[in-house]
Amino acid sequence: MIIPKPVSLVLHDGIFTLDADLKIVCDTSRQEIAFISDLLSQRLAAIAGLTAETIAPSERVLVRGNSPTVTLELGKLETSPNPEAYRLRVERHSVTVRANEPTGLFYAIQSLCKLLMSNDGGRTFVIPCLDIRDFPVFEWRGMLLDCCRHFISVDYIKHCIDCMAELKMNRLHLHLTDNEGWRLEIGKYPELTRTGAYAEDPGFYTQADIREIIRYAQERFVTVVPEVDVPGHALAALKSYPWLCCTGAPERNSGHQKDLFCAGNEQVVQFLLDVLDEVIELFPSTYIHLGGDEAPKERWKECEVCQEAIRKHGLGNEEGLQGYLLRTLSEHAARRGKKTIGWDEALECGIHQDMAIQWWRYRNKGEQPAIHALEQNHHVIASPNSLTYFSFPTEPDHHFKPERTSDLQKAYSAKYVPDGLTEEQRRRVLGAECCIWTEYLTEKEIDRMLFPRVLACAELMWSYPEQRDFSEFLTRVRLEQHRLERDGVVFGPYFSVME
Ligand SMILES: [Zn+2]
Repeated sequence: MIIPKPVSLVLHDGIFTLDADLKIVCDTSRQEIAFISDLLSQRLAAIAGLTAETIAPSERVLVRGNSPTVTLELGKLETSPNPEAYRLRVERHSVTVRANEPTGLFYAIQSLCKLLMSNDGGRTFVIPCLDIRDFPVFEWRGMLLDCCRHFISVDYIKHCIDCMAELKMNRLHLHLTDNEGWRLEIGKYPELTRTGAYAEDPGFYTQADIREIIRYAQERFVTVVPEVDVPGHALAALKSYPWLCCTGAPERNSGHQKDLFCAGNEQVVQFLLDVLDEVIELFPSTYIHLGGDEAPKERWKECEVCQEAIRKHGLGNEEGLQGYLLRTLSEHAARRGKKTIGWDEALECGIHQDMAIQWWRYRNKGEQPAIHALEQNHHVIASPNSLTYFSFPTEPDHHFKPERTSDLQKAYSAKYVPDGLTEEQRRRVLGAECCIWTEYLTEKEIDRMLFPRVLACAELMWSYPEQRDFSEFLTRVRLEQHRLERDGVVFGPYFSVME
């Protein structure tokens, strides 16, 4: 019934019937709990047309006879110390939700709303009596939105946060800078958005917009993880301040962009540190993503300043210079209590020990990038491209060859943890992220790329079943589709017709 599938669900005889007397019992003196109970009332109103009154635990004596109650309470769970764990017990006249932390209560009400059923065309709603004990396998359950290639509005980002919360996902990774656009307002360097946000599809987020996105996400227990991509994918920044690149005259080329930040230039490094300071100030996330992917080094080979820096610091070659730049930024972040993430290419250039690696090059390299990172004691976030890039279509087209397509079944078959790891290495896999890259997508088209495949990803990130029954999963996907479409979500195809 529920996606992602709970760790344990035991059905009992009987049903709980919602009626107009329904009361939500909880201590609303904690702001997070007040928010959760409000959200539950709103959802009950939308689904079942009921107005449930919220009362304090001390007022429970006023509840008449067998009137239905939903009680939300914090307390230590014997089954799991996990801060996201919850227990949900549905009996004939009462529903009891217990969790170690408010996050667990929030996830429990997501499950509760998915259990509501009506057999009489929506006149009455019931929940079967049951007992759920649930907690996630992975702490990092993410989604990446590329806001650069096409700009994504604040409203659509909020819609994605709502969808993530329903699926118990908790990391929204915003890819904020790239060749096609610099989308984040930086106070010290206004040209980045004055010029850089207008490179192609225009638009950017003011710092006030970002604070609004973060507030909305935090209420829903989602952490917003910013990405500022260095040293490549930087053309929008280079066009804003041409002195940032080796030649002083950045140009667009086909293939991977050749112009990149001139990492040998100390002024350029200072610029990046200044940007990082504003990013750290703005985003409460412990992790800041620094990119480190797809950075051809021709320009550095021809640049006197970069070559001099390689000699001066004994870096050996251009890869060494990239490692030096990423380490400088990671150390700066570490002094401010932050950690960094890099795409898996970053591993090849000698990075800071605390940099987590986002494994993505699955189609060409299989599990090797993840295994290498784990062998070097880095943490790993799994985004194996053919399995988690939901911007890849289900059918091949003129941009995507057949090997770069994926359907629901393929997404559900993904392995985020390579075989043959030690227990310590397994623990270093923080979790996974699905990715929406927007080279060929505008925000209007994102829903139908995400759905239904994100449902597979959400389930693997939460419960990671080793034995997967795809046809059983498919039954739950159809139910979920019905619910989500009612909320305005647009679904794309389930399967490739090529197979
Ligand atoms: Zn240079």
